[in-house]
Amino acid sequence: FAPEKKLGVALVGLGYYATYQLAPALEKTANCHLVGIVTGTPSKAETWKKKYNLQDKNIYNYQNFDQIANNPDIDVVYVVLPNSMHHEFTLRAAKAGKHVICEKPMAVSVKEAEEMIAACKAANVQLAIGYRLHYEPFTNEVMRLAKDKDFGKVTFVEASFGFPLRDPKAWRLNPKLSGGGPMMDVGIYALNAARYATGEEPISVTAQTVKTRPDIYLPGIEETLFWQMKFPSGAVSNHTTTYNSGLQRLYVGYENGNLEMSPAYDYGPLKGKTSKGEMNLPIVYHQVLELDGICDCIINKKPNITPGEEGLKDMKLIEAIFKAAKTGKEVKV
Ligand code: NDP
Repeated sequence: FAPEKKLGVALVGLGYYATYQLAPALEKTANCHLVGIVTGTPSKAETWKKKYNLQDKNIYNYQNFDQIANNPDIDVVYVVLPNSMHHEFTLRAAKAGKHVICEKPMAVSVKEAEEMIAACKAANVQLAIGYRLHYEPFTNEVMRLAKDKDFGKVTFVEASFGFPLRDPKAWRLNPKLSGGGPMMDVGIYALNAARYATGEEPISVTAQTVKTRPDIYLPGIEETLFWQMKFPSGAVSNHTTTYNSGLQRLYVGYENGNLEMSPAYDYGPLKGKTSKGEMNLPIVYHQVLELDGICDCIINKKPNITPGEEGLKDMKLIEAIFKAAKTGKEVKV
């Protein structure tokens, strides 16, 4: 049942994801609702104010954001900015005493991710990363199969995610804002999938990059990245992430069967089958379940299931994968 008071959420950065996924989700959530915005674009402030009936005092820009500390309407700050801004705004939100939800990738380096975790701990606020799939039934079933071993142990995972990025001016192609190419953006889903499909943490990685358009894909931005991982049980994984092609797949090979999902990471509907047949699972609004799940943990003072530590694990692997691609050597993690 709904709590007595819904938590107030402020979205920071009113781009595509905030506008078309998170704000509509916040109209359906039981544990929280949209009460504030933080934007660098005054015209968006006007549009959002009218559309969501927001109060002037709950509308901030990037300069006056720290005043949010004095605003009791806002319990949770949701950082939906370009990747390299996640660190700064998570630290500022924690300092203001607000719980933080931060989009993936949580940061652009391991060092930043560790500082974000430490800042939220010091401020005694929760930090959750926007890994929406962890709140969704298909992904939960993949996790369950790793745990309950219906088909035996996992021996092999193939997980890949790419899309054709057509806008050469996108911040995603500016290494200062993105911290990397498709790996940071969508490859992280495939990486995270290998971890939840095996229920294990990789012990080593190898990687290769291919660049055909160095005029668009500047140094620091890979175009297509292939990588492989070894797991303690002996399972291995193979991955592709690219800005060159639409590709979205998760294959898990078990001792006595397999699972195949495509699409595996979209907002839905997701689709998949196992050796036993179609995965007949409910189609849900990922962001509603994610927001309600995280806010339930904040309300009831319990740890959330996608904490900063989960984001940090992916950041450590991404750094290892970039190092492996650069050196051509297997990197132990
Ligand atoms: P957009 O480019 O659509 O939006 C980013 C917003 O950030 C802008 O609209 C702008 O908002 C603000 N901003 C502030 N400074 C800058 C700057 N220098 N350059 C560009 N934008 C700036 O990005 P997305 O919404 O697609 O992605 C935002 C984050 O969300 C990323 O970290 C991404 O990885 C993540 N994401 C997660 C998804 C998921 O499924 N979990 C899906 C899509 C994205 P304003 O005008 O209000 O200042």
